[in-house]
Amino acid sequence: MTDLSRIVATIAADMARAEDRGRVADYIPGLARVDPNQFGIAIVTADGETHCAGDADTLFSIQSISKVFALTIALGKVGDGLWRRVGREPSGTAFNSIVQLEHESGVPRNPFVNAGAIVVADVNLAGHQPRETIGELLQFLRHLAEDDSVVIDDKVAQSERATGFRNAALANYMKSFGNLEHAVELALGVYFHQCAIAMNCRQLAKAGRFLMLDGVHPGSGRHVVSAARARRINALMLTCGHYDASGDFAYRVGFPGKSGVGGGIMAIVPGRASIAVWSPGLNTRGNSQLGTIALARLADATGWSIFRPAADRSPDAP
Ligand code: GLN
Repeated sequence: MTDLSRIVATIAADMARAEDRGRVADYIPGLARVDPNQFGIAIVTADGETHCAGDADTLFSIQSISKVFALTIALGKVGDGLWRRVGREPSGTAFNSIVQLEHESGVPRNPFVNAGAIVVADVNLAGHQPRETIGELLQFLRHLAEDDSVVIDDKVAQSERATGFRNAALANYMKSFGNLEHAVELALGVYFHQCAIAMNCRQLAKAGRFLMLDGVHPGSGRHVVSAARARRINALMLTCGHYDASGDFAYRVGFPGKSGVGGGIMAIVPGRASIAVWSPGLNTRGNSQLGTIALARLADATGWSIFRPAADRSPDAP
């Protein structure tokens, strides 16, 4: 067993025994049914090794992790023009907060709060039917994960639509400021379906590889995005990926990461690893309780914090 497999196995065994597992999101009925006694972790390293443990092959709802991939597509379509419609500052507020939108004239703080992701969905709709926009995102994920089985969990999508009153409020509010080009229902339809994409840790860690490799998809050897763009997406994940707990996540873990209320977190160690963890119980900020703890443990055990001096990051260290 390599050091890294041992570290991953130990973390999974400890997380399986953990008592305080947080609370499963229950405001989306499709998520409330998930068994909290699950934990999975998958790491794909820059040299192509995969290390998995626990429930790494169990599908879960990726929820807000989809915002990273939707943002990547939107930047490909409109480039830096996106930043006229959405900011890139941490919000310091909950993922579904509406308060800043009034002060800031319907321009969401960043693409990872719900309001920002709804604007991104609107950008991705341009010239498409909602079905095509979602199809484009699914195809992108299948390509990145090299796995054609990635699909949407329709039950979750329907239950998001049936209960998404806050998201509808955010979308209507932004529409009133002229920051949505399409009908509110269309932008929300795309948003609800992208949140309902189901993946497992193994697939998600593979999908994140281009962000660890300066934009290159190792499957094809081609750039999915430029190196500069990959670095900027990582910067946004570090500063905004955990909403009003982004500072705490950077402090405790030290990797760019994006969480979702399904209990998943995708984290990137540039040049070294793409990681997915999943445990459905959430902390009070809506981020996976055990997922965060597991990543903090991994950072401690490997010394992978992005804040570690580069000279100390020997290629042989785990
Ligand atoms: N679909 C969820 C929502 O809109 C996504 C939130 C999240 O994962 N933080 O509320």
